[in-house]
Amino acid sequence: MADPKGFLNHDREVAKTRPVEERVKDWNEVYQPGSLLPIISKQASRCMDCGIPFCHNGCPLGNLIPEWNDYAYREDWEAASERLHATNNFPEFTGRLCPAPCEAACVLGINQPPVTIKNVEVSIIDKAWDNGDVTPQPPERLSGKTVAVIGSGPAGLAAAQQLTRAGHTVAVYERADRIGGLLRYGIPEFKMEKRHINRRIEQMRAEGTKFRTETEIGRDIDAAKLRRRYDAVVIAAGSTTSRDLPAPGRDLKGIHFAMEYLPLANKVQEGDLTVSPISAEGKHVVVIGGGDTGADCVGTAHRQGALSVTQLEIMPKPGEERNANQPWPTFPMLYKVTSAHEEGGERIYSVNTTHFEGDEDGNVQALHLVEVEFKDGKLEQKPGTERRIPAQLVTLAMGFTGTDKENGLVEQFGLELDERGNIARNADFETNVPGVFVAGDAGRGQSLIVWAIAEGRSAAKGVDRFLTGASALPAPIKPTDRALAV
Ligand SMILES: Cc1cc2nc3c(=O)[nH]c(=O)nc-3n(C[C@H](O)[C@H](O)[C@H](O)COP(=O)(O)OP(=O)(O)OC[C@H]3O[C@@H](n4cnc5c(N)ncnc54)[C@H](O)[C@@H]3O)c2cc1C
Ligand code: SF4
Repeated sequence: MADPKGFLNHDREVAKTRPVEERVKDWNEVYQPGSLLPIISKQASRCMDCGIPFCHNGCPLGNLIPEWNDYAYREDWEAASERLHATNNFPEFTGRLCPAPCEAACVLGINQPPVTIKNVEVSIIDKAWDNGDVTPQPPERLSGKTVAVIGSGPAGLAAAQQLTRAGHTVAVYERADRIGGLLRYGIPEFKMEKRHINRRIEQMRAEGTKFRTETEIGRDIDAAKLRRRYDAVVIAAGSTTSRDLPAPGRDLKGIHFAMEYLPLANKVQEGDLTVSPISAEGKHVVVIGGGDTGADCVGTAHRQGALSVTQLEIMPKPGEERNANQPWPTFPMLYKVTSAHEEGGERIYSVNTTHFEGDEDGNVQALHLVEVEFKDGKLEQKPGTERRIPAQLVTLAMGFTGTDKENGLVEQFGLELDERGNIARNADFETNVPGVFVAGDAGRGQSLIVWAIAEGRSAAKGVDRFLTGASALPAPIKPTDRALAV
């Protein structure tokens, strides 16, 4: 156990961010480099090594949190990294990007601020990379079996790494020009610098995983051909169909899905473009959708030099404290001030868009909204609350409705969908087609990186068992798990 009095002696302290006026002028991660390591041993010492560590249950990966807290407290970074990797292939992604359901479930959180689990996680993995402790782990012998993974987001990468290490020959197919899924082209550089993905890909290549970019299964290679070529298939194609807003004026120029807008900004950072063809520079920007994707649009618009940024949300403003129906250790829906919100802009809750207004050239110029409230479960407009806000760029960040059904993938494999339109699977993550598995947002629906990694790891066990009859790989979750976390 870390220091038995740690939680009595030390207050919670989190990673420091760089000053707003400095960070909005660049695209680097918002955190102050080097601010975390000097405080992390004390922060890890706040862990009580609980008899029933609820943090384990809060985390879909079942991360061994008290064990690595203890090693971090003792500054034994090598042992901490070994414990961290025992349950998580990519802690540098979750340590930066996870909303940390483990912290919501931390026992200390009952009457004190919880342990800074996410900051400890990212410190351990960054130190491990710096110390050269993250090395390729190629399999000792090959099974002779082959697996195709469709999609290179966190679910596909986790499944591919597990299966490669189990001795199977794995190729990851990705329709985009770079590997990483939403980590690469959804999440902005200021939330996670892409060098973190690049060095993992190098590790995976050295272990034997093959990557094929700019290859869309269903269009460039059909399902039948892929099935002939491989003994098993994992579909990790994400939930990439954006939810639309069919309001009058939707077809005006300047109204884009968030996932049309954000990838172009990331492409500028990759050096593919000098300026984004969809830029907020000199424009009043409205972001529709109050979630994380919306916050990423807000931060991106500020960095591009927007005149103003307004984020709209149809739901009421969440509370700042847990309410009675979201008790510890559940993950509460609280009012969040993300780093993007610290940088400016206005957030308006309980409003709906009635229509968009354009100029004679068909460019959007304004958005009309109305206040709304839920009455008896029905959304009603409040009369007399209509207003107009200027908008030359509007981004739609209202979530995703499922995996892409246009490219032939679902049809060609003959996949059954569940009632929510996601690819249906059994307890082993296998679809209705024997030997074809599904992991991540494609099966779960729009979710989180931590769930995607947990799904990739669990689906890999199903595939390994299908190929060899038995598997020693871990399976942290079942497809139906939702448990304490979001
Ligand atoms: C803007 C944005 C910000 C987010 N921020 C966070 C965050 O901060 N924290 C967090 O936990 N979660 C966040 N999420 C959610 C998280 O990114 C996803 O839950 C996660 O990436 C899902 O992983 P996945 O591997 O299932 O799919 P994805 O990451 O979506 O990857 C799927 C990949 O499959 C490829 N593909 C699809 N069809 C085919 C095909 N037929 N052939 C070949 N390739 C194909 C796609 O091009 C894509 O690269 C965010 C999501 C968005 C959109
Ligand atoms: S619940 Fe919190 S205090 Fe308890 S073991 Fe987990 S991190 Fe430590």
